[in-house]
Parts: sequence; structure tokens; C-alpha cells
Amino acid sequence: MRMCLTADIGGYYTGALEEGRDQFGVKGDFVTSPEISQVFGELCGIWFVAEWIAQGRQSRGVELIEVGPGRGTLMDDMLRTIQRFPAMANSIDAIYMVEASPELRMAQKNLLCGENAPMTESKVGYHSVCKYNALPIVWTETIKSIPITAEKMPFIMAHEFFDALPIHAFQLVSVPATQARPPSPSDTSSPSTKTSHPTLEWREMVVSPTPPGSTHASLNTPASQSRDTPPPDFQLTLSPTSTRHSLYLPESSPRYRALKTTVGAGALLEICPDLSLYAADFAARIGGSPQHPKRKPSGAALILDYGPGDGSIPTNSLRGIRRHRRVSPFAEPGLTDLSADVDFAALAEAATRASDGVEVHGPVSQADFLEMMGIRERVETLITKDGDSVGNGGGEDGKKKLKKEDVERAMSRLVDRGPGGMGKVYKALAILPENEGRRRPVGFGGDVPAA
Ligand code: SAH
Repeated sequence: MRMCLTADIGGYYTGALEEGRDQFGVKGDFVTSPEISQVFGELCGIWFVAEWIAQGRQSRGVELIEVGPGRGTLMDDMLRTIQRFPAMANSIDAIYMVEASPELRMAQKNLLCGENAPMTESKVGYHSVCKYNALPIVWTETIKSIPITAEKMPFIMAHEFFDALPIHAFQLVSVPATQARPPSPSDTSSPSTKTSHPTLEWREMVVSPTPPGSTHASLNTPASQSRDTPPPDFQLTLSPTSTRHSLYLPESSPRYRALKTTVGAGALLEICPDLSLYAADFAARIGGSPQHPKRKPSGAALILDYGPGDGSIPTNSLRGIRRHRRVSPFAEPGLTDLSADVDFAALAEAATRASDGVEVHGPVSQADFLEMMGIRERVETLITKDGDSVGNGGGEDGKKKLKKEDVERAMSRLVDRGPGGMGKVYKALAILPENEGRRRPVGFGGDVPAA
């Protein structure tokens, strides 16, 4: 998954697409919420403004960090909104964009800084100057390259980023006693109990080449995924023996270990180690950690993505997306977008494990989040004050005059709670400074405190 999406030899986000084509919009492979309506990014911007107010209106040291910023539309809409709150706008020191794709990095620079703005390279990453408030913007390839400084108040945005991080998939199998792994030297249980019963062990689903001459039929590709694509070059098979990852990842959380008793043989499990690394990094920036102590936790992370929001662990969720259709994730590697459900409970667990200075709110559905943030009121104003010139015109491909029906249709799409609707399948989760649950953030059931 990592190779297919971000390999430097040409992954889906790193150069495999033909020139002049990108991932987004009608002509691309998928459409994301910020590309559907400017209101999405505006409300995310307002969410950070509300957090900045609730946390005491710090006058400097604010950092905006976005991971996986796509075309830069979300950051542009957030910044335009934050400009309406000059005291907050003036508190921002810098903007950081974590982006693996050189093409998208350039698209973001063009949107946020202007086509003619120069971009310079340093040891840290790439630099330019934003059209809003002449703020410095720094692009890095991973969040690790962004310095962690205790005095900073980081506001971190992650939209449709976590679903692109590589997963490992496992299945619990019953291994006859004679084949079970020999007990480790530290295992003090008597040998007789080891040999009389089959044991449950995790096996990893591994990617292997399909046999030469394979067809969609021989590979049992679902009919809905075989249209217009050649037979997959790869397939998932169950590793007959333990792998490095199967020995430790499924043992790394009580949620996973519980499957041995709650489900037993046949249990499936997907784990995304990078998700935990990013969540732990966000938490350390906000709440401090043993390596990065922070006297007073500050800042917030807002994560929107799709996945079960009920605490269940994703299974069988790896998918390929091409030209707005589900395709086999194993067909035409590099040309197909890959994504997997985001495990929000794993995000919460990794964040609170990494820092005693944070708490987590949500997940709530995107529809709940946007409605509590006032999407209906915002759309109403946008329609009645058409041409109010605050907007970028919304729309997926370029500037358009705002039309009442378009704005309303876009909103309905974002808050659609029907089966498969964006309002239902997307979830929002917030990481905040620890406050013993006394203050809920807006959008998650909380209110803005009176000034
Ligand atoms: N947030 C945007 C884009 C979502 S697509 C939107 O909602 O429109 C995923 C984004 O994450 C792209 O910008 C892609 O280049 C980036 N990305 C994917 N994997 C990444 C990785 N491992 N490291 C950094 N960026 C990554």
C-alpha cells in the first residue's frame, strides 16, 4: 500500500498519474468534502477559532499544521475564515503542510501563495510565503520533520489522510498442537498443556502475485470491481506461518487481544501502525510527552475520515478507487487510489497513551459535526448574501458564481445521513488538552465559552 501510494519510483500520489491529471474532482478519481463546498473548510476554520478562544486567545506561537492537504483547498478556506478574526490571524507564526506528493505540493503553493511566488528548499523542506498575512509556509514529507516546541500552540487538521496510510491485515487461525510455535524460553507453563490443545495464532494476509494467465473469473473478482480494469496482478493470501508483524501487532492492544476470546478462529483484524505514530505525534505536540515535556498543554487536532465510529475494528476494508468507482485494489498498482477504513478507537488509544496531557472527543458523524458547527446557518447566509465575495465560489473545478441550488445540493451531500451518505460514513474526532472532560469542544456537543 505504501509502495503503491507514495513510492518514489512513481506511486499514485508521487507521479504515476499522467501529466495534467490529478486525483480530485469530476475528471479525477474521487471528490473530497473541501472540493464539494467551501463551507466545509470554513467550518473547520471556525472550529479552530473556537478552540483558540476557549484556550485563552494566545497572542503568538500558534501553528497551523495540515497533513495530506490535497489541492490546498481546505487550508485556503480555513485561512480565509481565520482572517475574519484578526487577533487569531495575528497569533499564527507559521503554517506547516505535510505532503508526500511533489505535484500536490506545487498545487498547494500556487493556491496559497500564488503561481509566481518562489519556493525555496532547505534541510527541513520547502518554503514559500502565504498570500494571507504573508505567513511562512513550510512543506515537509512527514510530520517528524516539523520541530516540536513546548511553547507552541499547534492546530492540526487531518482530512482524508489516515485512510491512505498502509494497513496490515490478520486472521486468527487454529493451529494443531503439533505445529504450534514452540514456547519461548520465558514461557514457564508446563509442556503438557501446550501440546494437548490446538492454539490460536495470528496469521498475516500477504500480497502475492497472481498466477500467470489469471482472469477476473479465476480470481473471483467481484463483478462490480472488474469493469474496465485488467485482471489484478496481485492477490491477498494468508501466510502459512507467522510473520514479523503477526507476532507483535495483534498483541499490541487489549482491543485486538480480546478477539481471541470474543470471536476465536477466523477473527479478522486490520491494523495501521502509521495511524498510531501520527496520533501519538499529534498528542505529544498538544499535551507534551516524556520526550517533549510541555508545561501547559495547548492546541487541538481535528481529524475527519471514514471508518466505523462505534469502536469496532476495521476488517476487509482495503479498496481501490478509480474514476469514482470501486475497483480491485490489486489492479494496475500506482494508477489506482487505495484506502482503508480508519480505526478511530485506535487513534484515541494511541493519542491518550502517548500523552497524559490530552483527551479525545468523538467520533461523531460528519453530519452531526457540521450541523452543530452551523452548516445550515452558514449556507443560508451564503445564499442570501450571494456574491458576498467571501467565497471561492465552491464547486469542484474552479471558480463559479454561487448558485442557490448548487450551494444547497453541496450541503445536502456533506450531511447526507442515508446509507453510504457522506454525513454518515465520515466521522470527526478531536484531540484536545486534558481538562478532565469539563469542556467539550464545539461540534462535539460543546459551546463557545462566554467572553
Ligand atoms: N485532505 C485533502 C486530500 C485528501 S487525499 C482533501 O480532503 O481534499 C490524501 C492526501 O494525503 C494527498 O494530499 C496525498 O498526497 C497525501 N498523502 C497520502 N499519503 C501520504 C503520506 N504517507 N505522507 C504524506 N502525505 C500523504
